[in-house]
This record gives sequence, structure tokens and C-alpha cells, in this order.
Amino acid sequence: MIGIFGSGQLGLMLAEAARPLGFECVFLDNNTTGPASLVGKVYPESEFETFCETLDVASLEFENTPLDLAQQLEDRGVLFPGVKALRVAQDRLIEKRTFLALDIPTTGFYEVQCSDDLIQAAKEIGLPMVVKTTRGGYDGKGQYVVKTAHDIEAAWSELGANSPLIAEAFVDFSREVSLIGVRGRTGEFASYPLVENHHAGGILSHTYAPASNQDQIIEAATAKLKTLMEHLDYVGVLTLELFETAEGLLANEIAPRVHNSGHWSIEGAVCSQFENHIRAVTGLPLGSTQITEPSVMINILSKYPPAADLLKIKGAHLHHYHKSERADRKIGHITLSNCETPDDPRLLAIKGILPHAPSF
Ligand code: AMP
Repeated sequence: MIGIFGSGQLGLMLAEAARPLGFECVFLDNNTTGPASLVGKVYPESEFETFCETLDVASLEFENTPLDLAQQLEDRGVLFPGVKALRVAQDRLIEKRTFLALDIPTTGFYEVQCSDDLIQAAKEIGLPMVVKTTRGGYDGKGQYVVKTAHDIEAAWSELGANSPLIAEAFVDFSREVSLIGVRGRTGEFASYPLVENHHAGGILSHTYAPASNQDQIIEAATAKLKTLMEHLDYVGVLTLELFETAEGLLANEIAPRVHNSGHWSIEGAVCSQFENHIRAVTGLPLGSTQITEPSVMINILSKYPPAADLLKIKGAHLHHYHKSERADRKIGHITLSNCETPDDPRLLAIKGILPHAPSF
């Protein structure tokens, strides 16, 4: 039995990958009706002891797992990835310092504890800068772009009250890419090709797998990812998000888990990120990360499209997360197989069906 912190769509897809390998999953989440509740029991935190008694191996599908609970499972030797990785991923300052210590190029940054620090940050790293809460931000939440000195006060009053902050130099990137790696219990390492991510309003809209023109950059990026995973004694899937700039790749952040930009791998790789995560945490040999066909993954936000319209499109695969519809909520995704360019007419057809009309 595999116990997973969190019970969202990532948990659902992990459990779907675990079942053919002979594993069932249970989940820990105070919301006991999330997508993963379709495939396994969800325990609230008040039943943590029972959750622990049920599982043989523990893992997670969201990085803000409470560290005290994670530590208890680590002490029993069953948590993969471990608390060391979670500490880094839960705090943007620790994350940035880890990048620097490992010689992984990253955005210039400044630690902010009071409003005066923001003024100092603007002097040190220049404007514009992106001010972020060090903890708990996701999908672009907990961020404020300071364009001029006049914005500093507003940034502080919006973000400064509840959390320490980090100010980052605004990166003039040409594109955003991510690299997903997997490391087994014995240190075996593999990674997927770089993929290209497009965001709208801070939320991932769609991903091209593989990213075009990656020959010059994939080797260095993979070496950095491997170094990072070794440093963290990492077991499982880890995602490194990067900005591509004229000066090369800059690390933005890590996610210590399977990632939205890897969903294409269910149809488009020999072994998906979900199966590889399960293989890694259960001590099985890793599967091939080779891409089998170029794919585009498109998130479904807010409202489900009519399945019949979508499935008329050749090569379109629908993944419905069984979540209720809500503005800007990720409620499903589509993988379009054998698609490599934005001018593929099938993408236009998909755009016409999706209410939020992604800009391909
Ligand atoms: P994050 O939560 O750090 O992944 O940020 C969400 C999105 O905001 C990223 O995918 C970028 O599009 C944008 N962003 C974050 N940090 C920066 C930065 N330092 N410079 C420019 N854009 C950024």
C-alpha cells in the first residue's frame, strides 16, 4: 500500500499508474472528496495514525506537506522523497540558496523581511522585480511585479503582512521550459526531454513536448538536475522549472513531485512520469523516459468542453479530473498526440472548444 500526502488529480493519476504494478494507494488530505477519492480512501489529518498503519511506502503529490507529519514517516524510513527535499521546495529562499550552492544559475534575488528591505532590493537587483511570498505560493499567487518605486508600498501591503518575502530580478526570458527527472532508491537516474511551457495569468496553459531547439541546452540542464537530485538524496520524480534567456538557462523553482508539464508522458512516453514515480518510490527499476510521439498537453480550466466535440479530433485524449467547475481551476487536461507545431489545425479546433481559448 502506498500512502500519499494530498488527494488531487496528481494523486489520482499516480494511483492509476500504481494499480497495474500491483499497488493500491491511500491519501492524506483534510478535503476527503478530491479527485483521488475516486481510487482510494482519503484520511483526514486527524486520522494520521491510521493512515500510517495502512501504508508500506509514503510519498506526496503536493509540496506543502506538513513537515512534522512527513518527518514521522521519514523516521520510519518509508518516505520518498524525504524531508530534505521538502524543506528546500517549501521555501523559495532556501531553494535559491541551494541552486547557488550547487552552481545552478538562477535569478538574482534579495531576502525581504521589512518594507525597507524592498527599497534596498530595488537598489540591489534593479526594477522591475518580482516580489513573492517565500512559502505557499502557487499558480502565480502570492506574487507582485514591482515596476517602479511607487509600487513598493502596494507590494508590501499586499504580501508583507503574513509571510517573509523574496524579491527576484524580473527575467526577460525567451521561453519557459521544464525538465522532469526521476531517481530510484539505488541512485539510478533518468530524465524526460525538456518541454516548453506557456502560461496565462500565472497558470500553465499548455506544454509542447519536446521543446524545440533543445540540443544545445539539454545536456547541461540534465547534469544540473542530476546534481540537485543527488544533493537532496532524492527518490521519485522531481521537476525543475527554468527560464531560457540569452545568457542560458536560469532555474526558477523545483517541484518535488510529478508535474503538470509532464502529463503528456501518459500517452507520449514509453513510461509516464506517474509510473516512474511509483517505480522509484517502491524500489522497482525505472522505466524508459523516451518520448514516443511529440505531444501537446492543454489544460482544461474553469469549464469542461463537450467530450463528444473534443474526441472527434484525431489524436486528442481527454483526462477529466472529476472536479467541480470554477473560474481558473484546473479541472482536466487534453493530450494531443503527434503534434509538434502551434499551426497544427487540430489545436485551432481545440481552442474553439475550450471556453478559456488558449493562445497557441
Ligand atoms: P512561479 O510561481 O515562480 O513559477 O511563477 C509563476 C510564473 O510567473 C512563472 O511561470 C513566470 O511566468 C512568472 N515569473 C515568476 N518569476 C519570474 C521572474 N523572476 N521574472 C519574470 N517572470 C517570472
